[in-house]
Amino acid sequence: MPLPSQLSLDRERETNCIAAQITTLNKWYGSHHVLRDIDLTVRSGERIVICGPSGSGKSTLIRCMNRLEEHQQGTIVVDGIELNESAKNIDEVRREVGMVFQNFNLFPHLTILQNRTLAPIWVQKLSRREAEETAMFFLDRVKISEHAHKYPGQLSGGQQQRAAIARSMCMKPRLMLFDEPTSALDPETIKEVLDTMIQLANDGMTMVCVTHEMGFAQAVADRVIFMDQGQIVEENEPRTFFSNPVTERAKLFLSQVL
Ligand code: ADP
Ligand code: MG
Repeated sequence: MPLPSQLSLDRERETNCIAAQITTLNKWYGSHHVLRDIDLTVRSGERIVICGPSGSGKSTLIRCMNRLEEHQQGTIVVDGIELNESAKNIDEVRREVGMVFQNFNLFPHLTILQNRTLAPIWVQKLSRREAEETAMFFLDRVKISEHAHKYPGQLSGGQQQRAAIARSMCMKPRLMLFDEPTSALDPETIKEVLDTMIQLANDGMTMVCVTHEMGFAQAVADRVIFMDQGQIVEENEPRTFFSNPVTERAKLFLSQVL
């Protein structure tokens, strides 16, 4: 039975641990050079927000971090495991990394509870009872346990996204990746998803989050990474980044989103 305390990482103990290390990462789609010499270290317990204009490579970068995309040059090491051609390494990393997408990616033909228990039963070989207990614990945390037996189509966008976050939590990931988790939501449901993410951050979860929700970035991010044209152009703690961006590209971007 998972205990709430298992969710909390001891941030002090973990500060020096590296959750992910990306070194001189380069990626092409055909002849399009989409990621250029990306270096990024994510420490355990750290919350990183990635922002930047559309097409700058944000999704590609975080998709590379659990090998939904392959890279051609450089290294990506997640929780001590290098992401390369090794299917075993890819499986191991995916067990440690939760991913939440813009469009929820729930299985429409399974109830919210079944969506939660599928991977723990099949990948982690938990018994159904254990998996359901874990699932209900996390559904309760995101405040949708009363909808456990409904299908995704019966829930609002915000509820579906919270269900998707709870699904990742059931795998007890060491790192959570978010790709614009609120950008497909109605304005009134954005807050409920952001609140869930803030709760996760306060629990000490290591998070890399692509988002244009600058309020969220200011509230929880330890670091903001600004990307443009496949490069990390600027990187700073949020207060400095927002009040005093250095590059013209970041200034222009902020003038458009703030
Ligand atoms: P962002 O998330 O910052 O909007 P993406 O990482 O989605 O940017 O895309 C970066 C660039 O790569 C864009 O020019 C996009 O058109 C291109 N791209 C993304 N996915 C693919 C793909 N599967 N095949 C070819 N080009 C792609
Ligand atoms: Mg994107």
